[in-house]
Amino acid sequence: SEQSDRLSVFLLTGIYRFEGSNAMFIDPVRILNRSYTRFRVLPSAYYSRFFDSIADNSTETQNNCSRNSKKRKRNKKKEKSQNLNPREQIADQRHQEVRSMLLKAHEALIESSEFLEIVMNLRNDGCDKEKCETNVISQDTELDFVEVGSVWQAPLYEITLNFHQDEMMEKNAGFPLIQFYEQRVVQVFNNLVANEGSSDVEAEFLNHRYIVPKKSCFYMSDLGKIHNLIPAESDRGFNLIVIDPPWENSSAHQKLKYRTLPNRYFLSLPIKQFTHTVGSLVALWVTNKEKLRSFVENELFPKWGVKYAATFYWLKVKADGLLISELDLFHHRPYECVLLGYCHRDDMNSEHLLRLNHVPNNQVFISVPGDYSRKPPIGELLLEYVPGFRPARSIELFSREMIADWTSWGNEPLHFQDSRYFLRK
Ligand code: SAH
Repeated sequence: SEQSDRLSVFLLTGIYRFEGSNAMFIDPVRILNRSYTRFRVLPSAYYSRFFDSIADNSTETQNNCSRNSKKRKRNKKKEKSQNLNPREQIADQRHQEVRSMLLKAHEALIESSEFLEIVMNLRNDGCDKEKCETNVISQDTELDFVEVGSVWQAPLYEITLNFHQDEMMEKNAGFPLIQFYEQRVVQVFNNLVANEGSSDVEAEFLNHRYIVPKKSCFYMSDLGKIHNLIPAESDRGFNLIVIDPPWENSSAHQKLKYRTLPNRYFLSLPIKQFTHTVGSLVALWVTNKEKLRSFVENELFPKWGVKYAATFYWLKVKADGLLISELDLFHHRPYECVLLGYCHRDDMNSEHLLRLNHVPNNQVFISVPGDYSRKPPIGELLLEYVPGFRPARSIELFSREMIADWTSWGNEPLHFQDSRYFLRK
């Protein structure tokens, strides 16, 4: 049946498209796994939140709910008495415009009971329970790349890449498989570090182990060095650019996790110089703060030379399929937005300009969030709107992880590559 087809497509790809809907559910673990040959992402390490609370702490969840509804009542009152300041009113208006569309998307998930069973089990997916639970987050601490990268010795630090390749030797009928090893030691900061091979690389840096996907590279530096990534020739540029900037935020939690930057710093990101001659699709993650949205629309996109095209929504659910917070909570929406736009170079010919693809508005992707502020890998979902050639040349800015066929830039692109997040196949 159609339903079981969709289920098997999901099990293969990590993408479940709801029938007759602009919504889909995605499993980042399955999507990321396509980047690896000898390793796989440990689901219990990816899904570090939103699984425990549903089974074990149902009372806590209930408490949360009642607290939330109290807050909501307060909000409602506030709205009724029109105490929202003008900026909040605009934000609320944006919310009202998409609210029913998001509810519909969520309903599509809630109504798929067979599929919800699968979602509920994503955390112990494909690994025996023991392995999944004991392997979770080893005791040793993660490296703080921002700290390590800012000491005076940083330029001297090196990373060791252990290449491993299984090569089929057709000529050698008796020994078809040749295992091939190579070790490379390279500067880790302010340097383009690449795994051009078609197999994962295990890397070592300061007694930590990292898994580097096939055909991927990273440049780990502060914003001040990002210009080193501008390609010398524009036909070496990128046609897909995903950006998740460290926006300033009042959340105390965020302050502990990573440093943020004032908006004006992002104005100088060289988006146009990164763009390939065929143009680029630019995907920018934003928060629901109205001040930020108007900054992007009125200053940032114009400064970058990006023409706005559409907004996509990431709807966040718990393992039981319920939203992580009430949809109408003013300061804690259960969704985030990705603003999409096209950038083209001044030297781009008009033939290419005409061919910039059309992006439908208001697509919704639903998933269970991973670590704090970690975004689901949406590159594949965007691919059909990327101008020009395939495979796309893709770059992620302010990245904390690596993906096959992508360039990752940020001050900690190896963060989620720590071997604690992986299982050997
Ligand atoms: N998209 C990422 C989250 C990005 S959070 C994910 O899904 O996991 C923003 C990132 O920007 C953090 O890794 C933070 O360390 C980094 N960052 C903050 N200030 C920076 C700077 N000055 N230069 C480079 N990266 C910076």
